[in-house]
Amino acid sequence: MRPFTYHRAASVTDAVAAVGRPESKFLGGGTNLIDLMKTGVEHPAHLVDVTRVPSAAIEEHAGGLRIGAMARNSDVANHALVRTRYPLLAQALLAGATPQLRNLATVGGNLMQRTRCYYFYDPTLGECNKRNPGSGCGARSGFNRIHAILGASPQCIAVHPSDLCVALAALEAVVQVQGPAGARAIPMADFHRLPGNTPQIDTNLRPEELIVAVDVPPQAAATRSHYLKVRDRNSYAFALVSVAAALDIDGGTIRQARIALGGVAHKPWRVPAAEQALAGQPPGEAAFARAADLLLAGAQPQHDNAFKVELARRSVVRALTVAASQS
Ligand code: SF4
Repeated sequence: MRPFTYHRAASVTDAVAAVGRPESKFLGGGTNLIDLMKTGVEHPAHLVDVTRVPSAAIEEHAGGLRIGAMARNSDVANHALVRTRYPLLAQALLAGATPQLRNLATVGGNLMQRTRCYYFYDPTLGECNKRNPGSGCGARSGFNRIHAILGASPQCIAVHPSDLCVALAALEAVVQVQGPAGARAIPMADFHRLPGNTPQIDTNLRPEELIVAVDVPPQAAATRSHYLKVRDRNSYAFALVSVAAALDIDGGTIRQARIALGGVAHKPWRVPAAEQALAGQPPGEAAFARAADLLLAGAQPQHDNAFKVELARRSVVRALTVAASQS
């Protein structure tokens, strides 16, 4: 591991100022960054520890929920407000990682975690445009069972790894950030980006901006919801496909639907037309299958993951069916 200097920030202002040094990175729970530093994928010269920045509160805000960026994943998943009003978030969090990791990992870090593409993680495997821009993409011609079926580019076919972010996308959360130029709010739909020609850039955060909170607006669909994660083993595995589904049903008719897919693209995948197609329909397999087709329109599997298209289609129908069955 490359030697680095360390600063423990006491406030957001302190953290933003301290990260202005060249080759600096924020350090949250460290459950992803430290792994990447050990393998030489990340090699910051300066770490700004933000775990003591006072922004870990989980509280009501504007009729919805505000989650401080330093809140630990376990604390969010077990918080009464989250469990009763946004069970989708609790389900997604508890589907991720292990209890030990969830006790350490922060919400801000969860949003910033990097792809688990094997070729990105292991420098001995050679080409990776995300790790070393311009070097090529080992996954395109290599083993790509876990990779994208939507939104990929010739430069990168990696998928976003978070479960929480899929649920936050479905619930139309907003990320609050603070940087040298002040505060701004980034809708979850715009926070992560597709790879295009710059796959080394995962998000639309500007240099030196720190995530301070995530706001989840009031959502009529928030309680009739389900997070379905399909993976190779039942614990400590990333999603092959995941679905965050939320429905507002009134008198046997869907008033509003929110659906996001994980494990299929470089960001949580939403298609507004699929949600709009469900509005005004009675809940049922026919309507859910139509929504699934719209979500997966244009899917382009890699040579090892054609199974993901049908798996995603069935998972959407299943997640919506379970959500609709909630009272
Ligand atoms: Fe790197 Fe992306 Fe290709 Fe994986 S898919 S090897 S992360 S460029």
